[in-house]
This record gives sequence, C-alpha cells and structure tokens, in this order.
Amino acid sequence: MPISRILFRALISTFLCFFSLTVTSAEPDWDAINQETLEHFQAMLQIDTSNPPGNETVLVEHIAEILSAEGIDVEIYSNDPDRANLVARIRGNGSKQPLLLMAHLDVVTVDPEKWSFPPFGGTLNEEWIYGRGAVDDKDNLVASMMTMLMLKRNEIELDRDVIFLAEAGEEGGVQFGVEFMTRENFEAIDAEYCLAEGGSVVRAGGEALYTGVQTGEKKRRTAVLTVNGIAGHGSIPTRNNAVVLLGQAITALAEWQEPIRLSDTTTTMLARLADISSPESAARYRALLNPGSAAAEEAMLYLLDNEPGTAALLHNTVTPTIVNIGYRYNVIPSAGTASIDVRLLPDEDFDSFLDAIATVIDDPAIEVSWDDGLVRPSAAVQLDTEAFQVIEQVYGEHYGVPIIPRMSTGATDMSYVRAKGVSCYGIGPGIDREDVPLGYGAHSDQERILEQELYLFVQAYHEIVVRLAAQQ
Ligand SMILES: [Zn+2]
Repeated sequence: MPISRILFRALISTFLCFFSLTVTSAEPDWDAINQETLEHFQAMLQIDTSNPPGNETVLVEHIAEILSAEGIDVEIYSNDPDRANLVARIRGNGSKQPLLLMAHLDVVTVDPEKWSFPPFGGTLNEEWIYGRGAVDDKDNLVASMMTMLMLKRNEIELDRDVIFLAEAGEEGGVQFGVEFMTRENFEAIDAEYCLAEGGSVVRAGGEALYTGVQTGEKKRRTAVLTVNGIAGHGSIPTRNNAVVLLGQAITALAEWQEPIRLSDTTTTMLARLADISSPESAARYRALLNPGSAAAEEAMLYLLDNEPGTAALLHNTVTPTIVNIGYRYNVIPSAGTASIDVRLLPDEDFDSFLDAIATVIDDPAIEVSWDDGLVRPSAAVQLDTEAFQVIEQVYGEHYGVPIIPRMSTGATDMSYVRAKGVSCYGIGPGIDREDVPLGYGAHSDQERILEQELYLFVQAYHEIVVRLAAQQ
C-alpha cells in the first residue's frame, strides 16, 4: 500500500477515533446506567406508596437524597406533611421555554394474597421485575430521575431548563398533587412541554408493533338520573312505575350513539392504524376518516363489537354503571337513581351535553343532573410541535415501529398541566399485549415489567430529553 494511502488511513482513523471520543463523552455508559436503574427502580418499588394513604413523603425524601448528593437542587412542596411533591431543576440558558418531566409517586392498593412475589419487593425473576407501580408509574419515575442524573453528570449544556416533578395523589387525591401544584405553585413547574405517563410500546409475541403516545384525553363526569313515580303495591301494575321509567331512560341512553367526531389525534391514529393493519381492518379505519358516510357507520358498528376501546375514542359516550331503586319485592318504589359514566371529547361543553341527555330520555319523570364529584380540566394537544417530532424520531429509531397518537378514555394528571397551556405527551416502555389479560397490567392483581424494556425506556427517555433540551 502506498505511503500516502497508509497516511491517509491513519489520519482517517485518528479523526474517527477523535470523533467517536467526542461523541461518546456525552453518551452514558449504558451497562452501568442499566445496573443503577435497576437498583433505583427496585428501591422505589420497595417503598410502599399505596394510595390511600399514599405516604409519598417517604419516597420524596429518598429521591431528594439521591438528587441532592449529585448537586441537583431540590424543592419540596406539600399541603400535607405525609403527601409531598418534589421539584428538581437543571438550568439551561433560557433560549427556550422549560421542559417538564412528570411522574407520580403513589400507586393503587394491593391484595397481597394475589401476588406470587411480594407487591413491595421489587423482585427480579427471570426477565421480569415485579411490584406495584412497575408500569404505573415508577417506570416513568425512574426514567425521569435517571435522566436528571445523566444530564447533570454529563454536564449537558441546555437551551432550556429541565424540571422534574415527582407528584403525590395521582391515584385519587389530586388536591395533594397536581391540582395543588398547578393552582398554587405553577411557577415551579411552568414549561412549554411536558412528558408523563400514558404511552407505551405495544408488543405482541415479543415484537414491538407500534408506539402509542398519549396526546389527549376525554373528560369525565357522572350524570345522575333521578326518577320520581308513585309508590304502590306490587300486585297492582301501574303506568308510572319508577323501576320501569328508570329502565326506559337507561335503555334510551344505551341505544343513543353520538356521531363520530375526529380530532388531530384521532385522525392521525386511524390513518396510521390503517398503515399497519390487515387489508380489511385498514379499509375500516380509512372509512372512519369520512364520518357520516355509510361505510363509516358500518365500520363503527364493527368497532363497537370488536374494538370498543377504539370506538370510544371517536365520539362522546354514556355508560350506565349504577342503578339504585327498590327495597321490597312487593312494593313499587316511588324514587330511585342511576349513575351514568359520561366521557366527552376534550372540546365538549358539559352543560349542553346534560341538555342533550335530557332530550334523549325525553321523560318529565326523570331529572338529570351532574353529581358533585371532581371535574378535571381538559385541553387538546397539538401534534405539529418540536416535542412530538422528537418523540416520534427517537421512538422510531429505538424501536423501529410507527408512532400512533392516542387519546385516552380516562383522565391523567396531564389534564391539569395541559389546561395551563403546557403541551404534554404521555410516553412509556414496551409492554407485552399478552400481559394485560394475564393480570399483570397497571392496577391489576399483579404488576410487572420486562427488565430489558425498562432499560430501553430509560435510554429513549434520556434521548428525547437531550434532543429537546440540549444546546444545538
Ligand atoms: Zn398512573
């Protein structure tokens, strides 16, 4: 080989070596990070934050110690000493608005007898890590905490502040957590974008199918039907039997189908589901993109029978859930109530929807009102943002599957933050679709995550934050 070529090669390899050194100096040592992630994750699972009562302060103190030891500023906010929220901030140069990383500390309660491994043990068995909170939401908690540690250690220069909020009371008790934080301490968490729970990489047969990113949620409220009739003896049928009137009202609501109404999120969802589906399913999803057409109606009927979870995202829904009437077999009762679980598209108005319910029932004997339960705020999120693009890129690169924006039928804490003008996106780790019916999903009798999927999630999470916040 001529000297010039050898020299050229040497130069190239020196350059490559230098280049890779400069790149990898900011790239974490993933083997070490995975090990550390596992230790922190197990410790988080071992701290019992079942809500009620929550006792999130114990976990807040644990996390505060880890962050403070590495020089990250931590602030604690609480309106109940046992139910603290933690805020940590790594400062950027302020050329962009902050990025908020949000995760909740509390978990739902457990029935310990149903668990094959201790619910607060954090047991690693074969390839799974078991514990309440494993996929809701200590996975996001450890991913956001690890990201903060990596940003700090690697001295990543930031265009925007990165804020970490570990919050109390998501599983019932927002007055201690996100409602309190957005109402009284919003300046501590104010941001352009936020990342939180609610998404996942859907796997089947061990392969990733697609990534669901939560970009919106329906808002819920309970409608109460109150019936008033005339009491009487069960031996003498009457025309104003309250049991019958209430039954007719419930039937009228059950038969009522609100029309399909699409948003940015559901339009994109249907189009992308079509891209990855069998020809018959794809035709159905595409038909739904033309609401009002006969093909859309037919596709909707199919979804109602076969994919009710998808059907629910396309329109407002009313679901009867509780009926309270009668007390003796031979007495016609004079009064009773039914509860209707109402889930509305984000831009609907509660009051006019209540009028619509009354019109459908069309019976003066039935009074319709909202119960006085909690009403979460709601706001739609845009998909044409830098944050969504970055999430799409990173998940695409890391998992090699398409991203499908999802609206959730239930509300998360993001609703409060979105209502303040922050664009929140729900992301999550890879979860086997088969695991949910087996009883290992969020809020299930047991809960677990694949060890490897936890590590992949932390890597994707870190990469999203670096691309969104690091100096360009
Ligand atoms: Zn959750």
